[in-house]
Amino acid sequence: MELWYTEYHTDTARFSIKVNKQLYSGQSEFQRIDVFESEEFGTFFTLDGLIMATEKDEFIYHDMIVHVPMATNPNIKNVLVIGGGDGGTVRELTRYETIESIHMVEIDKLVVDVCRKFMPLTSCKLDDPRVELFFEDGLKYVRDKENAYDLIIVDSTDPFGPGEGLFTREFYGNCFKALNEKGILVNQHESPYYEGDALAMKRAHRRVREFFPISRVYQAHIPTYPSGHWLFGFASKEFDPLQFDEEAWNKLGLKTKYYNTEIHKGSFALPNYVLEMLANADKE
Ligand code: SAM
Repeated sequence: MELWYTEYHTDTARFSIKVNKQLYSGQSEFQRIDVFESEEFGTFFTLDGLIMATEKDEFIYHDMIVHVPMATNPNIKNVLVIGGGDGGTVRELTRYETIESIHMVEIDKLVVDVCRKFMPLTSCKLDDPRVELFFEDGLKYVRDKENAYDLIIVDSTDPFGPGEGLFTREFYGNCFKALNEKGILVNQHESPYYEGDALAMKRAHRRVREFFPISRVYQAHIPTYPSGHWLFGFASKEFDPLQFDEEAWNKLGLKTKYYNTEIHKGSFALPNYVLEMLANADKE
C-alpha cells in the first residue's frame, strides 16, 4: 500500500510526496503539526497541512533568508527572529561570530519541541549561548521594542492562522521602530505565482514600503513550496542590498550550499510579471 502526502497549492493544483512513514502527528493550541519520512525529501514537517521545511531543500530558504542581510551589513550584532520554529534560520545566524545575541520569538513551543526531536538538521543550534527563545506572539512582542535590533528576520507561516498578524501594517510599523537607525527587515514574502499567494505578496509589499525607505524583493526556487518560485522581502533604513562588500563576505570563508555573492546580486533580478505586480502593489 502506497502512502502519499499531498498539499493543495490551489484548489486545482496539488503537490504530492511519497511517504515511507508518518513519524508524528499532534495538535498544539495554534496548529496541527505532522512529521513524515520520505525517500525524495528526507524528513519533513507540515503545519496545518502545509510544508514548512524538508531535510533536502531547507538549505535554500535558510541560506537566502540569512546570508543576504548578513552580507549586506557586516556589523550586525543583535538579531530578532520571529517564527522560525524549526531552527534553520537560527542555525545559519550562529555561523557569524560577529553576532552577539539572537532572540527567537516563536508562538508555538510544540513546533520547537517536535523539530528538536525530528529535525535535528535545522534545530541543531537552538542551544547556542547567544540564542534566547521566547514562546509568544511576535506581533505583541515587537509592540514595545525600540531601537533594539540591527536585523529582524520574519520567518513566519503564511498570512492566515497565527501568522496573519505578521503581515499587518501594525506589525511592520513596530518592526521599523524596533530596529536601530541602520536596521534591516527581511521577511518570507510569499510567492508571485498562484493568485492567492500573489495577493498576499502584494499586500505585504505595499505595507512594508509604507515604512521603509529601501524596500526590495529577491527570489529563490524552493522545490517544495507552492510553484517553487519563492520571494523574500528586504527592507532597510539605510542599506541597499546591492551595494555590499562581496570580498568581505567571501573572506569569512563560510561554506554555503546555496548562497554565494553572485546569487545574492542575481536574486534581486526579477521576472517582468513580478516587477509589474510590485509596481502595482498599491492597486489590489
Ligand atoms: N519556512 C517556513 C515558511 O516559509 O513557511 C516557515 C518556517 S517556521 C516553521 C514558521 C513559524 O512561524 C512556525 O513555527 C509558527 O508557529 C510561527 N508563527 C506563526 N505565527 C506566529 C506569530 N504570530 N508569532 C510568532 N511565531 C509565529
